[in-house]
Amino acid sequence: MHKVVIIGSGPAGHTAAIYAARANLSPVCVEGLVKGGVAGGQLMITTDVENYPGFPEGIEGPKMMELFKKQSERFGTEIISEDVETVDLSQRPFKLSTDSQEILAESVIIATGASARWLGIDSEQALQNRGVSACATCDGFFFRNQDVAVVGGGDTAMEEANYLAGLCSSVTVIHRRDELRASKIMAKRALDNPKIKFEWNSHVVEVKDVDKGEVTGIVLEDTRNGDQRELKVQGLFIAIGHTPNTEIFQGQLQLDENGYIVTKPGTTQTSVEGVFAAGDVQDHVYRQAVTAAGTGCMAAIEAERWLAAQEG
Ligand code: NDP
Repeated sequence: MHKVVIIGSGPAGHTAAIYAARANLSPVCVEGLVKGGVAGGQLMITTDVENYPGFPEGIEGPKMMELFKKQSERFGTEIISEDVETVDLSQRPFKLSTDSQEILAESVIIATGASARWLGIDSEQALQNRGVSACATCDGFFFRNQDVAVVGGGDTAMEEANYLAGLCSSVTVIHRRDELRASKIMAKRALDNPKIKFEWNSHVVEVKDVDKGEVTGIVLEDTRNGDQRELKVQGLFIAIGHTPNTEIFQGQLQLDENGYIVTKPGTTQTSVEGVFAAGDVQDHVYRQAVTAAGTGCMAAIEAERWLAAQEG
């Protein structure tokens, strides 16, 4: 039986682990392999992190996660390198199962994150981090005074386009329909911005140039007649939504209509007492390493206080 079990090993999970370990709660962190992938969350697929305070020269995403992990191990966090396959949050102690073991927990901190959705074309994958990105706040700076495109028609796409318009020479929004899904106010802001152009009824079918190892343009296909044309850009931002990693919690915790875990405002408390959620799994708005770390810290402090109240 463990006092605190943390699921996930991105900035939220490891920050929760550092705080829980330093509070003498001997946390276990099930770091997750995300089905054959790597532990550590979205920063593992990021090249340079330049907006995390304390690293004035920037730091590579995977290096940063190595340091997070080292710090949580230094204070005694036990790391389990498996995925949690099923959870039972209907009674205490909570029960978590991996492929090889069952784990009992008095409290649980969920920090399983979210995954960016991708178009799913080969050239997009080949050029990820070489001009193709899913986060303008993270990578926009590398495309200062260059031409970029944003794929998507929702609030995220409009937000990314507006942010990039402040840095780049031009931004072209590529949307598969002729009507935006974004809220009126976000859409208007983008439509009124003279630096932002729109390519309606268009799909990206290829990102060029895989041989050069950098983005030089994209091939667009008209969804109505299949006509193809090329647009020269140096950066491509995919903003077609994120999927929170909450499948295993469905039916056990309150989720919002997009699958994100609902937490009580200003806290990390979920709909089940003793279960806390931190980072992108409960945040579709900020989605930053530093905010994830902040809520990871909150979750550990709340778990500690909740455990103390149970004992008292
Ligand atoms: P959405 O699901 O709202 O929008 C996704 C967009 O991507 C849609 O326009 C969709 O097209 C398009 N799309 C999806 N799949 C593909 C594909 N395979 N190829 C091409 N285009 C595709 O996701 P968002 O991330 O924009 O928003 C998620 C939630 O977060 C929303 O509730 C949003 O309101 C909220 N949010 C709020 C913000 C704010 O208030 N500041 C900021 C950001 C997000 P189609 O329209 O045709 O389906």
